[in-house]
Amino acid sequence: MKQETRLQRREFLRCSAAAVVAGLGGSLPRPARAQASIEEAADAVGRLPRTKLGKGGREVSVLFGYAGMPPPLVEAAVRCGMNYWHMANRWGDAGVPPAILKNREAHYCQVTVDRVGGNHESGRIDEEAHYAFVRESLDRTGLRYFDDMQLHFGYHSAAELKADRGFVRAFERLKKEGRVRHLCLSQHGYAGNSRVPGGESAAEVLSAVMRDGVYEHAQLMYSYGEDPATTRFLEAARKKGFGTTAMKTSRGIGRMREDPEFMRRLPEGTTPHNALTRWLTTGSNVDTAVIRVRNLEEFVDTYSGAGRPLRAADLRALELMTARADRTACRLCTECQPHCPERVPIAEILRFARYALDDRDLDSARELYSGLERRADACVGCRTCMGHCPQGLEIPATLAQAHALLRGA
Ligand code: SF4
Ligand code: SF4
Repeated sequence: MKQETRLQRREFLRCSAAAVVAGLGGSLPRPARAQASIEEAADAVGRLPRTKLGKGGREVSVLFGYAGMPPPLVEAAVRCGMNYWHMANRWGDAGVPPAILKNREAHYCQVTVDRVGGNHESGRIDEEAHYAFVRESLDRTGLRYFDDMQLHFGYHSAAELKADRGFVRAFERLKKEGRVRHLCLSQHGYAGNSRVPGGESAAEVLSAVMRDGVYEHAQLMYSYGEDPATTRFLEAARKKGFGTTAMKTSRGIGRMREDPEFMRRLPEGTTPHNALTRWLTTGSNVDTAVIRVRNLEEFVDTYSGAGRPLRAADLRALELMTARADRTACRLCTECQPHCPERVPIAEILRFARYALDDRDLDSARELYSGLERRADACVGCRTCMGHCPQGLEIPATLAQAHALLRGA
């Protein structure tokens, strides 16, 4: 095949996710067809760009994979050079994908460690339990070592970071033993959380973590649209060489994809996932991102945007997406939280609604919702929260919709 023809074909595939799903079509037996689809998808995405993560300067793919990624997508992603895997300890039961296990040194695998004795709000940091958990996870997965040890959900406040060094001590012991190499955290916001006295916002805690200097990089909630506090933190992190990874990135996008009228209004040649990926990887100050995808079609649509410049049409698409998402999908900033007199966990509830509506994971969303002490029906409709929501979300109505969806039968 001539170079020009090959390029035209790649460009065609990049623009047409449907072509990949159609794959090589009917004449092949099912396993061969599935394999051909994986190869076509990887070819359509091409090589994922890499970037340096934090002070250590490790070269990582700008998009991270994760343990819940369906196996064909992992295979396609490895072919594209994805080399960082979030929550690698959760591969335990299904097994680490062979492509990663057999080429262990080419991949960065992260162990994600939860608090113990409760959930992320009520649980505690416990050096011995974290130490034992990482050792058990290594035995279970056969990964031999974890590249990163992550404190899942992060600290409740800067004061807790200063006072409770149990997680750091567990890391240092494991590092001496050659079982872990780098320290990181994912950070949620706890400002105004009635179950976390003295809780602070994610931006406040992350700024303290960065000043503290022990952690190398962090995952934080970040998506398109205005978010001044997180944007300021990301600028500071970039100047300091503190690594950042965006998570919970696809705000409202699952719903957009299923709305033909909205999709028709987007500029030609753009899609929400693709514009989001272009923006995250070339138009924002975040270093890397986790973007969940459910099938090969979404894989191609989303990941083919990695490292590609934002065109005028993508900027217009992002404007339309922001206008829609600001009315329907919470960005999880927790700004409203301290102002609710009824202590409704607004951001938590609306995060679960996003799992149900955008990720189509209603069962998990309902299970998480059923575990809440206070649910959306505790809202009395006073509207106090609304004056504090940067996106002007109609919070009481959105909570009522979430409750109807998540309370189950
Ligand atoms: S409207 Fe509902 S969620 Fe908002 S502050 Fe009032 S009670 Fe809280
Ligand atoms: S409802 Fe508004 S203020 Fe509250 S977490 Fe969501 S986006 Fe932030």
